[in-house]
Amino acid sequence: MIKKLCVFCGSKSGEGFSQMAQDLGKILAEKKIELVYGGGSVGLMGVLANSVLAGGGKVTGVIPTDLFSDEVEHKNLTQLIKVKDMHERKRKMYELSDAFAALPGGFGTLDEFFEILTWRQLKLHPKPVFLFNYENFYGLLIDYFRNAHQKGLISAKDLSLFKIINDLKEWPDQF
Ligand code: AMP
Repeated sequence: MIKKLCVFCGSKSGEGFSQMAQDLGKILAEKKIELVYGGGSVGLMGVLANSVLAGGGKVTGVIPTDLFSDEVEHKNLTQLIKVKDMHERKRKMYELSDAFAALPGGFGTLDEFFEILTWRQLKLHPKPVFLFNYENFYGLLIDYFRNAHQKGLISAKDLSLFKIINDLKEWPDQF
């Protein structure tokens, strides 16, 4: 049973993702699954956190004190944990959470997703990892995985270390 879900997603809103982030926030609040995330108030991160809070859910943010100024900390979270740097942020988010999900995002999102996935590959943890392939956003990345598998660089077992979710409606069953 997942009680705390760590979500990695864009610190920018991008185009066409805000409703999806809001919908996920609503689901988490309804299911009483606490959100753990990077603690920012902007972009998809901010939209998701605000949606969970608006639904009466709990949100824990983990934000580095040395973070660049364009990622403004959220002032109204259930809990905001300040950490020294990015490495400590990832470790803290990992410790706090039962499972991890990457939504659409940029380099930071990918970095966080791959770190938690490789930790699992190295058997450092058994926690579930989800890739939310909203509107096939991650289609090219998934093609890359398939190609790497066909070329013998990613084993079938390792491919199964994370689950691709194509539709928000599939998620409640996973929880
Ligand atoms: P992005 O997907 O690039 O918008 O970034 C999403 C989040 O990842 C932002 O909160 C970034 O601060 C965070 N991030 C970027 N690089 C790292 C890193 N090396 N470790 C932890 N978080 C990071």
